[in-house]
Amino acid sequence: MGQANGIGTVNRIERVVIVGGGTAGWMAAAALARFFNDGRRTIDLVESDAIGTVGVGEATIPPIVNFNAMLDIREDEFLQATRGTFKLGIEFVNWGRQGDRYFHPFGSYGQSFHGIAFHQLFLREVARGGQLGTIGEYSMSTAAAMTGKFARPAVGAKSLVNQIIYAYHFDASLYAALLRKMAEGRGVRRTEGRIASVERDGETGDIRAVVLENGDQIEGDLFIDCSGFRGLLIEEALETGYEDWSHWLPMDRAIAVPSESSGPPSPFTRSTAHGAGWQWRIPLQHRTGNGHVFSSGYMDEGEAQDILLANLEGSPISEPRTLRFLTGMRKKAWSHNVVSLGLSAGFIEPLESTSIHLIQNGIARLFALFPDNPISPIERDEYNRGMRELFEDVRDFVILHYKATQRNDTEFWRYVRDMDVPESLSRKMELWRLHGRVFRENAELFAADSWISVMLGQNTWPESYDAIADSLDPDRVASAMKQMRAAYRETAEKLPLHEDFIRQSGGWH
Ligand code: FAD
Repeated sequence: MGQANGIGTVNRIERVVIVGGGTAGWMAAAALARFFNDGRRTIDLVESDAIGTVGVGEATIPPIVNFNAMLDIREDEFLQATRGTFKLGIEFVNWGRQGDRYFHPFGSYGQSFHGIAFHQLFLREVARGGQLGTIGEYSMSTAAAMTGKFARPAVGAKSLVNQIIYAYHFDASLYAALLRKMAEGRGVRRTEGRIASVERDGETGDIRAVVLENGDQIEGDLFIDCSGFRGLLIEEALETGYEDWSHWLPMDRAIAVPSESSGPPSPFTRSTAHGAGWQWRIPLQHRTGNGHVFSSGYMDEGEAQDILLANLEGSPISEPRTLRFLTGMRKKAWSHNVVSLGLSAGFIEPLESTSIHLIQNGIARLFALFPDNPISPIERDEYNRGMRELFEDVRDFVILHYKATQRNDTEFWRYVRDMDVPESLSRKMELWRLHGRVFRENAELFAADSWISVMLGQNTWPESYDAIADSLDPDRVASAMKQMRAAYRETAEKLPLHEDFIRQSGGWH
């Protein structure tokens, strides 16, 4: 009914159906139950134990901390339940050149002087021949990570510790179990069974119901497709189409194997480049996650597995498992009344641990645009526009790691070094090449310091620095930088060891 002020009642979405119970499905279920379960709406989740989940996905980026907080999950309980550890960034080994090593930290480098970006002053020092170390020595997260230390930033305290920004490593199946408990506790109905077919509305083409193998039907107004790579609703039913990015990111396989911990867990992920891809090392409390992501066009599976097993730090604790994927994204993440989340929406290799974040961001975006019945095409288009932008930003940042290499020891590295990249990335790289400039556009996920970290870490130096840096006295800046570098080092030395911090805060299981 319309009111005098123009605001009327509308047809709310009453039945939400989530298809899939992997990380995406249970993240969506827990978040929907928390914010959209007002008693008038039903939330169903269907998953098939026989099909299972991908079961990997153990490293995250800092916004996950907000996701957990939004669901009222206490950090210590979360670490205990998921056998989680803290993550301060990623150490990259053999990327720029074989034998190179650099750290991509969460958080920023140094502090700006009079509003002039720190890295510009650092570049000027390098140009002057100053002996001020690497840019990594001006990052709190790097200083802590490299000494195996960790502490949470303390609210209100005036300390460099407050520059620590962190994420987590966790056991993905334990995280899904934790979210499931919360979601079911808040009213989500779970059905176990395999979906055999889908019913569509003859007029609109929208999905009306999913039909299980036993004939049971689950009807809905809005469907969230979390069915994994196959995209049961978004692709198999709606044929939305997939944009293939494998010419830029030719990795299409991963072999994963957990191993015994070989020592206390380090507070960072490690990515070691090999001949046609790279290997991850993700330390949890009780084991280490490992995997070799590679391109089957340049390396066969047997060789990839041998390399993985030869580079484990502890003994493997299960058989290696191969996963296949195609890098790219669904042409529309939301089509008709189906919103795809997780692997069904697209996949970019886990080099910067972004997939779970793409799920989180998709949920946040869906909440910001939660539709009524019938769904407005404008709201749907806005969702798709935003998701595309985010996927493309992540894609470009991941491609940068391959493009900005000096490696030429294998056909694979020669290909990625010489390939054409998206225009959005070549523009960014050119701006960097001239004067070391990086601009964070729109709501880009990775801040300027992330780009700087990869560029400098992989020996991609600009031709010059920004002229504005010359407005500050170089000797005074150099002396302040020297003090800053010492302060980061000294602060890190005083922090607790990572494993002690988790134990002391009650998060160790
Ligand atoms: P899945 O886990 O595949 O779940 C699909 C669900 O759909 C299952 O419950 C299944 O039973 C159900 N389903 C499918 N078909 C049917 C049917 N017919 N009937 C009923 N149910 C059905 N992400 C990160 O953020 N960090 C990482 O470090 C990281 N590493 C990764 C490494 C690799 C090699 C890969 C492949 C991915 C990685 N990811 C990572 C991505 C991460 O694993 C996924 O984003 C995340 O697990 C979400 O998966 P999902 O829930 O979309 O799909």
